[in-house]
Amino acid sequence: MADLLARLQFGEILVSDGAMSTMLQGQGLTSGACPEEWNVSHPDAVKSVHKAYIESGSDIISTNTFGGNPLKLQRYGLESQVKELNGAGVRLAKQLAGEKVFVAASIGPTGHLLEPLGELSIEDAQAAFKSQSEAVAEAGADAILLETFFDITEIEAAVNAALPTGLPIICTMTFDANGRTIMGVDAASAARALVEMGANVIGTNCGMGPEAMLPIVETMAASGVLVMAQPNAGLPEVDHGETKYSVTPEMMADYAQRFVAAGARIVGGCCGSTPDHIAAISRAVKK
Ligand SMILES: [Zn+2]
Repeated sequence: MADLLARLQFGEILVSDGAMSTMLQGQGLTSGACPEEWNVSHPDAVKSVHKAYIESGSDIISTNTFGGNPLKLQRYGLESQVKELNGAGVRLAKQLAGEKVFVAASIGPTGHLLEPLGELSIEDAQAAFKSQSEAVAEAGADAILLETFFDITEIEAAVNAALPTGLPIICTMTFDANGRTIMGVDAASAARALVEMGANVIGTNCGMGPEAMLPIVETMAASGVLVMAQPNAGLPEVDHGETKYSVTPEMMADYAQRFVAAGARIVGGCCGSTPDHIAAISRAVKK
């Protein structure tokens, strides 16, 4: 399997996958349960999501390890199982990825605010990300995907923890309707900072949906770096107690083409996106 970064630098457009947690919720994951625990208790459910995305045309699948850092696992009393839960998440994805598909290990924020706004020290954040990064690297991940971050200081701690693994590092941050993260970081500043930290691919995920994401992608791609774009399928709306997302596969595919035209090299989806969205994106950007 040719190296992920080599293929991107060669100009290839790669399709990533869509949501994991909203798909697992469809299979019975409750909002109070630990999604990463499903890597050991419901491996077939997790594998079925990976399989559906691969069949829809994903070149990169991301593991069910978004909240697998010890600070987040602590909420469920599972902080001693970082290696087990993250390792299982990578191995489930690798079992299905074969030789053609890359496995990106998803790592999200700690869920705590860092000093001075919060109480978490940079050292403790970095230690948490280090244990998760080591677990996914040891299990054979092809890349580390730091996603849904909004604080530059926190993502820097995560990058510093991931760099020693030697794996390609993809960093995506989440922006609001006003083009800034909830901590006030704009896309141009984020792009500069992430490249300086040593990210190999930068980008944006989650947030307001594809339309609001386009100017962010344009700004980031203008700096000439490899860019990834994974929007939500719109904002969640609750209809008769059921959460729904309004952006159709066709609309996502239309925006994926615009992201590529703006310079993005990896396109996929975040919350609310399904294998149908990914199939439409794949058809649109691979033709
Ligand atoms: Zn999302």
